[in-house]
Amino acid sequence: MGSSVGQKPIGYLKMGSTKTASLQQGAAVYVHFPFCRKRCSYCDFDSFTGLEGRIGPYLEAVVAQVEASPPVRASTLYVGGGTPSLMGADQAARLVQACRDRFGLAHEAETTLEANPSDLDRAKLEGYRAAGFNRLSVGVQSVDDGVLRLLGRRHSAEEAGRAIALAREVGFDRVSVDLIYGIPTQDSELWRSTLETVVDWGVDHLSCYMLSVELGTPLEGAIERGELPAPFEDEAAAMYGQAVVLLAGAGFRRYEISNWARAGRESAHNLFYWRNQPYLGIGAGAAGSWEGRRYKIQADVPLYIRATQEGRLPLVEDESPDRRRDMSDTMILGLRLDEGVSRDVFLRRYGCLPEDVFGEALAWGEGAGLLTREGDLLRLTEQGILLSNELFERLL
Ligand code: SF4
Repeated sequence: MGSSVGQKPIGYLKMGSTKTASLQQGAAVYVHFPFCRKRCSYCDFDSFTGLEGRIGPYLEAVVAQVEASPPVRASTLYVGGGTPSLMGADQAARLVQACRDRFGLAHEAETTLEANPSDLDRAKLEGYRAAGFNRLSVGVQSVDDGVLRLLGRRHSAEEAGRAIALAREVGFDRVSVDLIYGIPTQDSELWRSTLETVVDWGVDHLSCYMLSVELGTPLEGAIERGELPAPFEDEAAAMYGQAVVLLAGAGFRRYEISNWARAGRESAHNLFYWRNQPYLGIGAGAAGSWEGRRYKIQADVPLYIRATQEGRLPLVEDESPDRRRDMSDTMILGLRLDEGVSRDVFLRRYGCLPEDVFGEALAWGEGAGLLTREGDLLRLTEQGILLSNELFERLL
């Protein structure tokens, strides 16, 4: 495994030996927008408050990186954060156009913008549509204002509902919401009403994540001081089970452990990650997987702007995982999907079958009832979804 970090020429990521494959399959393009107006109590992501004055220069730096990136055919564009809806519609248009020019992004390609409900009014939503975004991923998290305050979110439940209705009115027929369960003070009744409410809003995709209490966050401090009860894993597992039943009943398919979609509304972008396919990461804090390299860009915004102005790409991670690690990633990510891992696809990709490399772990998983083999497919069972980490550790 080779590893090197530091300042590289901005055009460092090039088309290499797998050029043909990348051009044929396409790639996903992720742009990170690391600005937030207010820090949420649970957040440990690469995002910054108080730097909104740098958004203009930052986007120029991002465009410079786009223009220096390999001219791959992009199948999807996803702008995540942070809070990309702090971007003006004209800034969004410039970003999408730069990606269209460099990556040949087709007009019908999936183009997602993450948004905070507080930022969305009709004019802005129309601007984002006109800019070329056709899918919105809205950070709703809860429909209870008390829980939203506890999470430090700056929007209310009502604002979220209104924003999603407006988004649909202006032509976003693809709207996803993020929800969190396992939050202190949130009970199963509240979680059920959250799920029912967002289904009623007419969304076509949901991502439901268990709250993770990260060290050093205000939420962790409040729990440490005894001001909030610690979340119980058993309760969170029960809430996950509620989501499985309720969303299936509402016509959603769980196509990944934490993601549900109506038929044909799966996130094409995120499928690239789970299928361990190439994606370009652009912007401060973005990670990418390209031509056998895994890289992560320095999160520091002023440093990223300065470096790109000087024609450099500041990397904090840059390694080429060996074949064994790549196979392991393909298994672990692929098993998260309902489609599972095709042994035939694995064979064509690596020249061996999963059981040739992971025989012991797979036999253990089958014996423990966590894994099934259905013809060509290896898939997690319902029990395997709940205990997936136990199997994944054995696949490392
Ligand atoms: S909006 Fe997202 S990235 Fe920003 S502070 Fe909240 S959780 Fe973190």
